[in-house]
Amino acid sequence: MDFVSTTSKQGYYQLLRSLLKFKWKVSGRMNPANLQRRRTDLLGLCKELGAPENRLCILAEGNASTVLDEDTFLIKASGTQFCNLQEQHLVQVRFEEILSTLDEEVTDEQVEGLLLASRVNPDSLKPSVETHFHAWLLKIQGVQFVAHTHPVEVNKVLCCSLANQFTERRCCPDEVVCCGPKFLLIDYVDPGIELARAIREGWETFVTDNGFSPRTILLKNHGLIAIGSSAAAVLATTQMAVKAAEIFWGACLTGEPVFMPPSEVDRIASRQDEAYRQKQLNF
Ligand SMILES: [Zn+2]
Repeated sequence: MDFVSTTSKQGYYQLLRSLLKFKWKVSGRMNPANLQRRRTDLLGLCKELGAPENRLCILAEGNASTVLDEDTFLIKASGTQFCNLQEQHLVQVRFEEILSTLDEEVTDEQVEGLLLASRVNPDSLKPSVETHFHAWLLKIQGVQFVAHTHPVEVNKVLCCSLANQFTERRCCPDEVVCCGPKFLLIDYVDPGIELARAIREGWETFVTDNGFSPRTILLKNHGLIAIGSSAAAVLATTQMAVKAAEIFWGACLTGEPVFMPPSEVDRIASRQDEAYRQKQLNF
C-alpha cells in the first residue's frame, strides 16, 4: 500500500467519524460506544458508593444516575444494593414522564404508576423512589452524574443542631475545591416527589442569593447528594464531603471549630491553579 492511498484512507475514516459524530449531535442522542461507557462508569461509581469500607450506604440505601441522551437517563433500580449492583439493576427512564408531574398533585399510587410508565423497557425493574430529583438535577447544564448516599459521618452532622454551621463555613481548602464554597442545605421532607420539589426550590434560592450553583446538597436527617460532569467528580465530591464532616465533627468535639475566613474561601474558589486541579479531577 503506498503512502497516497494510506493517507486517503485515513482521511476517509476521519471524515466518516466526523459525520457520525455530527449525526449523533444533531439527533440529540449519544453514540452507542459512549452509551456503553456511561453504563460502565455508572456501575463503577455504584461499586465505590457501596464499598463497605467507605461507609456511605448499606443495604438498599442511596441511588445514582447518569444522562444517556436528551430524552432519557439511567438510574439505579429501587431496592437494589450498591455493593452488588449489576447491569440489569440499572433502569433507563424518560425525563418527560417524570418532570411533567413535578408540579402536579399526585397520590402515592400515581407516583408508583408513573415510575413504572417512565421506563424505556417495560421489562426492566422499577426505578428508584428518588427518580424525580435525579431527573431535575440531570437537566442542569454541565450535570452528567448524580450520586445520593447516606454517609455515617455526614449524617452525624445533619442530625444535629450544627448542620447550618457546617453548610455555611469551610474548614479546609480542599473542601472548597471539591464541594464548592458552601453547601445547599434542605430541611427534612418526605423522600420522593416532595423532596424533588424542595431541592428545586432550594437550588433556585441558592443561585439567586449566591450568584453560583451548588455542587453538593445536604439533606437534613437524610444524606448527601453530589452532582458533577463525571463519575469521578461525584465520587471525589462525596469523599471530600465525608472527610470535611469528619474534620468538622472532630473540631466540635475538641472545642469550637475554627473556620477559614470567608475571604480565603473566596480566594480558593477563584484561583486559576485550583480551577486546573478541578479539571484534573474531571469536575
Ligand atoms: Zn436517601
